[in-house]
Formats: sequence, structure tokens, C-alpha cells
Amino acid sequence: MNWEQVRKLFLEWFLSEWEEIEKDFSEKTDKLIERLREQNYQIDRQTEELLRKLAEELYHKITALITHVVNAVNKTAKLQKDALVAQVAQEIINHRWNDGLKLSERFWDFSQQAIARLKNTIVEGIRYDNGVKALMYKLQYTIEALEEQEFAVVLKEQLPKWLKEFEQSTKGLLVNAESRQAWEKIKRKVEKYVEKRSREGTYYAGRQLLKEIEEALREGKMELVDKAVKWWVYDKQLYRLKTIAWTETAHAYLKATVELTKDEEEIVGYQWRLSRSHPRADICDVYANVDYGLGRGVHPKNKLPRLPAHPHCMCYLVPVVRRKGMEEREKPIIPESALESWAPKWLKKYAEENGLSLADLFNFEEGRFLRKREIGLS
Ligand SMILES: [Zn+2]
Repeated sequence: MNWEQVRKLFLEWFLSEWEEIEKDFSEKTDKLIERLREQNYQIDRQTEELLRKLAEELYHKITALITHVVNAVNKTAKLQKDALVAQVAQEIINHRWNDGLKLSERFWDFSQQAIARLKNTIVEGIRYDNGVKALMYKLQYTIEALEEQEFAVVLKEQLPKWLKEFEQSTKGLLVNAESRQAWEKIKRKVEKYVEKRSREGTYYAGRQLLKEIEEALREGKMELVDKAVKWWVYDKQLYRLKTIAWTETAHAYLKATVELTKDEEEIVGYQWRLSRSHPRADICDVYANVDYGLGRGVHPKNKLPRLPAHPHCMCYLVPVVRRKGMEEREKPIIPESALESWAPKWLKKYAEENGLSLADLFNFEEGRFLRKREIGLS
């Protein structure tokens, strides 16, 4: 059986499925923003309901993905263990991670956070409105109090300062580069108006200027709030969702591979394959390089480390068939090279001084180096 092929199919399938989830999420976020705009940025029950439903749909999509992955391993590897498939999928869906959360709770958490973010953004929008009022009041007062000639000079000097103050008070809306760009656009527009009207320098020009600035700021608000909502609800959450989707499906893939094959007589163990996206050496380097006498990184069935090794772990397992001449060791040999790059400095020093290897100072079962107090250093 070609397990590399199964893995490749799994990856392809995940990516195409994810693309669809992403597209759907993008469309739904746009709809949400449109709705908010129509409602003059009031969050009502229906808006909250919309977000909750979105989370629910995503939950169902990801559970379907998990079931599909388990099924696919079964089918592609021609294992025909259909009864086991449902059970394995269910275990993944109900799995409680180290942070104590199950998949469904993660999505509940997602919808709560999205609602909270939305509320924050709307509060910023209200602050913006108040800022516009204050700014307009200052401007009006100034214009009315000034003579014609001064009008031009004072506005050119004062307005940038006021705008800066205004910008400060609505910082929460300028959360990302895109919002800041939109704000710069608004500012440029205001500057242009000032330039034009100050040349006219009449009371009428002053009134006209007020109107124009207010309009520019009002129009700009929509853009700023929309961009902030999109940023919080879509950009920020999508990354989180992808992590959830990936972690859960990768877990499903690992678990399905093991659960569906572990009773096969001919399977002696599982080879730990490092994912290419591992940014730096960690416990997975050890797992991928241990030597139990079954080949590099091959763990005996009954000695498989906890899966996955750490959150966001993208490593995978490949079942290994028993071959002649394989002799299983009781304890694994850990190559020093798998430990060197991530061992703490003080430990390396300690090993050198005491003529020990790093493997001597490594707790393999728990996947970590010994602590200072464990070797009597503190
Ligand atoms: Zn890993």
C-alpha cells in the first residue's frame, strides 16, 4: 500500500475543502457588513444570531471534513473497517485538547469572540461620531469668530491639529494597514477642501467648507467601520479557523491511520515523518530520528508517542510492514543530532562537563529535556 499517496490525497482534499470554507466565510462576512451598514451599525439579536449560525455551520463543515478524512484513509488504503470509522471520527470530534476545549466548544468560543469584537468596533464607530461632532463644533466656532483674511491662515494651521486629535480618539478603527490607508484618503480630501475654500475666504466659503468636511468624514466612517469589522471578524478569525481545521483534520488523519491499521499482523510500527513546515527543531525531530531497530523514526505500535506531539504539529505517520532482520529494541537510541539544536545551553554545558550525552539528559516518554532540579542543579 502506498501511504505517501494516501497522505497526498489527504492534503489535496484538505486544501480544496478549505478553499471552499474560506470563500463561504468571506461571502458571509460581506453580508454581515452589508447588514450592519443597513442597520446603521446597530448590533441587534439577528446580527448576533447570524454570527452564531456562521460558527455552527463551520462546526458542521469541519466535523464533516474529519469524518471524510477518516473515511478516506479507510477507503484509499482499502482497509474496509467501516464500523471503526464512525468511532474514530467521533473520538476526534469529542477530543479534549490540553486547553480543555472540544471542537464544538472552540466554535462557541469563536462566535463569542466575533460578537465581542463586533461590539467593540461599533463602539469605536460611536466614538468616531462623537469625534466628528466635536470637530465640527470647533470649526464652526472658529469660522464664525474669524475675519475673512484670518480665516485662511487659521484653518490651515488649526485643522491638521484637530484632525490629528480626532484620529487619536478613533484609533480602534485604524487597526490595520487598509484602514489607515482609508483614513489617509479622508484626510487628503479634507485638506483639499480647506485649500480650495480658504482661497475664497468668505463666510459662505466657511459654511460650505463645514458641509464638505462633515460629508467626507461621514462617508469615511462607513469605510473605516466596514474595514475594521472585516479585519476582526474575517482576517483575524479566519487564521484561527484554519488552525482549528488543520489541527483537527491532521489529528483525524493520524488517528485514522493508527486506529485502522494497528491490529494488522504485518504492521510492525509507524514511521514518524517530519512535516516540511516545521520551523525549528523540537520533539518531532527526535521522533523522526529515533532508532528502535525498525528503521529511522519507526516507533513500535505499542510505543507510539502521544499524538499529535504538540499543537499545530503537522507531522504524519506511515505504517511500516514487518521485514526480515528487524529486531526491536526495548529502549530507543536517540541520535545526538536530533537533540543538539534545541537543547538548552546550560544543559549542553552540563553534559560536556560531566561526560554525558544529551540523550542521557532527555526524558523520552515525556518528550522533554531534564529540568535543572531533576539533575540536582537547583
Ligand atoms: Zn511535528
